[in-house]
Amino acid sequence: MINIVIFGKPGAGKGTQAEFLKSKYNLIHISTGDLFRHHISNKTSMGLKVTSIIKNGDLVPDKLTIDILENEVKKYNNTNGFIFDGFPRTINQAKKLDDFLKSLSMQISFTIALEADDEILLHRLLKRGETSGRSDDINKVKILNRFQEYNEKTLPLKEFYSKQNKFFTINGVGDIKVISERLISIIENS
Ligand code: AMP
Repeated sequence: MINIVIFGKPGAGKGTQAEFLKSKYNLIHISTGDLFRHHISNKTSMGLKVTSIIKNGDLVPDKLTIDILENEVKKYNNTNGFIFDGFPRTINQAKKLDDFLKSLSMQISFTIALEADDEILLHRLLKRGETSGRSDDINKVKILNRFQEYNEKTLPLKEFYSKQNKFFTINGVGDIKVISERLISIIENS
């Protein structure tokens, strides 16, 4: 079983690469952002709670996020593994994920961060916002807030996973296929 966490600031290409890894290694792709957006479009009580938080580019409180993640993982038995895309985003979430996976006799195999400069990411997101319909992709101030949330709350996870020898970084700029090759090289050589 292989369980991968993909890190990267908004626009780094986590979703695209997670979809690639999902089909290459036959994994379950879980994106907490996608799960929240699903709730929002279905106007569930969870959706109503998180609509304005997501629109503003803030992080959803840990408790809600951990619940949604754990419920999703529990839906799958006998899988080759999971790709966690956009989770964990805080140290608390990472600790809870470790405990949760341990309770299922599973663990994170490794984590890979896709790196790109803020200017490139901002450009990508504003472009994506023209077609994605995502309320958090269309406003520069909100995008910059998402970067700040990442710097403050998610970057410390580098140290958290480095201590477990599970943190890798790759250049997230370039041709999508070339970036996928960089990911494969880490997965198959670690
Ligand atoms: P994403 O699709 O990963 O860019 O996530 C979109 C938004 O969903 C984020 O800006 C947060 O508001 C929320 N979100 C997704 N995953 C998490 C998480 N692990 N912790 C807190 N908020 C999250």
